[in-house]
Amino acid sequence: MSEKRIPPRSLSAEESTLLARVDEQKAQLVELLGQLVAIDSRVINLETFSDQEPIFSFVEAFMKQAGATCERFRCTHPHVPDGSNKAWPSLIAAIGERGTGKALQLCGHLDVVPFSPESWTSDPLQATTRDGKIFGRGTADMKGGVASQMMAFKILSSAGIPLKGRLQMLFFPDEEMNGDYGSQFMAREHKAAIDAPTIIGEPTGQPPIKSPAIIVGEKGHAWLKLKFHGASGHGSMPKPRSNAINKASKFMANRGKMELPKVKPPLSLRNMLGSLLSRYSLGSLLSLARAPATEAPDPYNEDGLGIGNFFNTTISFNQIHAGTKVNVIPPTCEMEIDVRVLPGVTVKDVINSIVHYCTRLGFRIKIPGEFVNLQEAAGKLKNRPMDVELSIISFTPGTFDDPGRPFTTLLSGAFEDVYHVKAVHFFAPGSSDAVFLRGAGISDVVLFGPTGGNTHDANEFVDVEDLVNTCKVYLLTAYRMLCK
Ligand SMILES: [Zn+2]
Repeated sequence: MSEKRIPPRSLSAEESTLLARVDEQKAQLVELLGQLVAIDSRVINLETFSDQEPIFSFVEAFMKQAGATCERFRCTHPHVPDGSNKAWPSLIAAIGERGTGKALQLCGHLDVVPFSPESWTSDPLQATTRDGKIFGRGTADMKGGVASQMMAFKILSSAGIPLKGRLQMLFFPDEEMNGDYGSQFMAREHKAAIDAPTIIGEPTGQPPIKSPAIIVGEKGHAWLKLKFHGASGHGSMPKPRSNAINKASKFMANRGKMELPKVKPPLSLRNMLGSLLSRYSLGSLLSLARAPATEAPDPYNEDGLGIGNFFNTTISFNQIHAGTKVNVIPPTCEMEIDVRVLPGVTVKDVINSIVHYCTRLGFRIKIPGEFVNLQEAAGKLKNRPMDVELSIISFTPGTFDDPGRPFTTLLSGAFEDVYHVKAVHFFAPGSSDAVFLRGAGISDVVLFGPTGGNTHDANEFVDVEDLVNTCKVYLLTAYRMLCK
């Protein structure tokens, strides 16, 4: 998809020299990504300990060689026996002084999601270059961005330019499981150590869009469990009204009537369109909206791009468990729902919506004791047995930083000097470690990283050219923040 070019601005001699160094180091950057991909750092779930020591040791050794002072943090794993040495590492690697008032933090997670090698065309643990792309688990999400950041750090560190502040890299072990042992732990226990303007190198571009966006905010989530209760019995005597599966299915089938919390989105459709039109022509935007999002579109996908998901609270029914035998009516049905919320929506707002909806469906609902049950308070359905119990798996609020802040402006300038197209600022429907950093009160947290695709899927890839370009953007941003 073609982009409107903007005329290049002139760079200082020192800036040009630094950027030329990235081009010289391209083979080393690709090699570094290959080394990161080859270290298996899959995480499974919160209950299962994954040993991230091998990848953290590798990264720590690299950073020390690049001149960094390293500090390790350990969050012990709650599901292993006491006295075990199992812990989740986080790592800070830094050059320059703390407390000068100038600091930049480059941040990434080293874990990846699981994979089934049989669905891949090449070994997921061996980075493979084809058609200008590097394939392998984590190349896009997000070992590619991490490799670019590490290389930018190394180049600045070895350039011999005195720093007037501190450049630090922050590595997390478990973003793919919600950051309980990494970003959440660090934001809670060691906030002072990580409180700096931050660029998280998550992939923020997706083909056919060539140049990555700068993400300034993300939706949060309310992950909830609903347990429906019904009458059990013999399958030969169906119970259409009291079968727990039927209740769950009634809950899902009428979701159009559920009034999910509404707030004004931080970036309106108009803002986002305006931003996109500074980079793309209207014609190419329209063709993008019509084009399939991937090279091999899923024939079952009838839902299109889902632009509305950026601006509204959404709900997705993603897990359901019920029944033990074909001829037995199940007494319960458990469902897990994924509600995504804009900044400003609280978990109480979400629960109230669900309580109101259950009242409309004629279901009596029980909610956690710390919330006022509006159904109960109104004296409704009190003679019914409890149809459904709601519990909270986790809640994270949505967060947003104004894209007009000086830090974002500086990053955008560096982006435009490398890419020669306008920077676009976006709000993401998914969440990352950024929500926990912003949630702890750290301001200036943005996402920016190399274009890639098939994240969390087979044949994940990152664009080689973009690895180089994002590395240049990190380097230029660090130089302008810390060396001038
Ligand atoms: Zn990620």
